[in-house]
Amino acid sequence: MADAKEFTCKDIGMVGCPFKVRAATEEEVMMHAANHAAKAHGIKEAPADLKAKIQKAIKTVQV
Ligand SMILES: [Zn+2]
Repeated sequence: MADAKEFTCKDIGMVGCPFKVRAATEEEVMMHAANHAAKAHGIKEAPADLKAKIQKAIKTVQV
């Protein structure tokens, strides 16, 4: 068992978005989330408040 970081797009209010990412570090999760935001939501450069929202929504899970 190890700790992993998980982010679900729904958690920041993207209702109906099935995107979920799990990675070893918060940095990695942020990277995947940024890629996803650009591709799926047309957010090329996430503003600071959105990044803060994502960071808050990242959960630590046991894998
Ligand atoms: Zn999404």
